[in-house]
Amino acid sequence: MEKIKGKRVSDGIVVGKIFFYSKQPQKVVRYKITDIACEIQRYESAKEEALIQIKALYDRMLKEYGENDAKIFEAHTMLLNDIDLNESVHSLIRGQSVNAEYAVAMTADKFCEIFDNLEDEYFRERSKDINDVCERVIEILGNNDDKDKISEPCIIISEDLSPSETVQFDRKHILAFATEKGSSYSHTAILARMMDIPALVRIPINEAWHGKNAIIDGENGFIIIEPDTATLEYYIKLSKEREKQKFYLHELIGKETCSKKGKKINLYANISNTYDLSAVKNNDAEGIGLFRSEFLYLESKDFPTEDQQFMAYKMAAEQMEGKKVIIRTLDIGTDKKLPYYETDKEDNPAMGYRAIRVCLSMTEMFKTQLRAIYRASAYGNVSIMYPMITSLDEVKEIKSIVAEVKKELEDSNICYKNVEQGIMIETPAAAVLSDVLAKEVDFFSIGSNDLTQFTLAVDRQNDKLSRFYKPQHEAVLRLIEMTIKNAHKEGIWVGICGEIGADIELVDRFIEMGIDELSVSPGMVLPIRKLIRESEK
Ligand code: PEP
Ligand code: MG
Repeated sequence: MEKIKGKRVSDGIVVGKIFFYSKQPQKVVRYKITDIACEIQRYESAKEEALIQIKALYDRMLKEYGENDAKIFEAHTMLLNDIDLNESVHSLIRGQSVNAEYAVAMTADKFCEIFDNLEDEYFRERSKDINDVCERVIEILGNNDDKDKISEPCIIISEDLSPSETVQFDRKHILAFATEKGSSYSHTAILARMMDIPALVRIPINEAWHGKNAIIDGENGFIIIEPDTATLEYYIKLSKEREKQKFYLHELIGKETCSKKGKKINLYANISNTYDLSAVKNNDAEGIGLFRSEFLYLESKDFPTEDQQFMAYKMAAEQMEGKKVIIRTLDIGTDKKLPYYETDKEDNPAMGYRAIRVCLSMTEMFKTQLRAIYRASAYGNVSIMYPMITSLDEVKEIKSIVAEVKKELEDSNICYKNVEQGIMIETPAAAVLSDVLAKEVDFFSIGSNDLTQFTLAVDRQNDKLSRFYKPQHEAVLRLIEMTIKNAHKEGIWVGICGEIGADIELVDRFIEMGIDELSVSPGMVLPIRKLIRESEK
């Protein structure tokens, strides 16, 4: 038995088998095939799929940035249709009876070598494009990813997990996460809390653990490898007790969320996708206070279409049966990177090209999302909020885009309801300007995770700085209080959807400040309802 201490970022206790997830790009393996015609057909189908993907990328770039930037994908199409390249793949499959992935990888190597040795810099650069198109085909061809090899619920161990990797796991296969890197406020930790599964960071992981039995103690921050019988029995008993405690909280289902003095708090839940809706309902959340819509994008292979998004938002609106569903528009950047949308490397990505800045730069993509949300509004009680606002000008720009979207929907006779428009207060600028911004919007939702990092100038991703990253810092709390006062002066409501909303030590203080709504991970709804009902404030 081996007991290792890490840092807990999501509570809970589980016992299960370890799956060691390695994010190293998988080597393409060579294997013998027997049916050559079938293998060539497999390659041809993958190539067709790659051409469709490239065409979609071309169309999008053309719309957003114009012909010059889109040209790169025209070049990819030409490369993939290149007679020599295709001949090389076919002849490797035929001549050596090898699998298509291997034939494509060998062809890519051969062509890159030729291009790398050319004098002209332009042609030398083209070897990147060859690699790019060939990798696309290989990805389509193969299940090169370890995640696809998981066939039962496991404890996932990895050096690090980005949100886009995390959401690619089949949820029914995840018992817990334990990683070497990561921090409490990274989106992977937040995701684990939303999924109500235990998670640890700062675990010195070991590949040899793969397949071994283990316990994750998310209450004390331990991973126990190959526990002995007594330890196993202890944890099985403890986990049953925790289940019982959770069960007792169920008596609060259907009860009002009011303090003893009668202050009503709207207690909503944060979700990342429609899978979370059952947890929202099982925990009796009174609405959805933060639908992190970017996870729809992170889970896709390409930008989700208007219809794909519409289906997800509609499902949330319908299943919540008239309760509020606040959809936050796309908030990508920093740790939430779309694998299919490459942006320039930034030295300070948290302060860089992200969230509303991306949407205001890619207005067609933004309008696609807004149209999907507005269409879904006809099916329930939908609101929209915008992340990373820093100025009145941004709000005005958003409003004019929203007006265009509404006009387009009207012109096409598509029904929608009037949707409440809110902004996230997650930059000090927005908090300081909250008196001005409150005149322009219907509500505020305080994103304390980012508000903390920008107020204290501490990177929320950097675990080395975790002792300096304090959402409970007086400076952050004062900004929250100021925001609430300014909102109320203008008659609009304010909520908190950052992780601090579920801080059991601060519930009383937030009630005193006059907060109207708290939005927490589904598993925290009932514990917070209990505290609010017990509050004397
Ligand atoms: C926040 O910043 O508090 C927030 C809710 O947004 P996210 O955690 O997704 O950045
Ligand atoms: Mg944020």
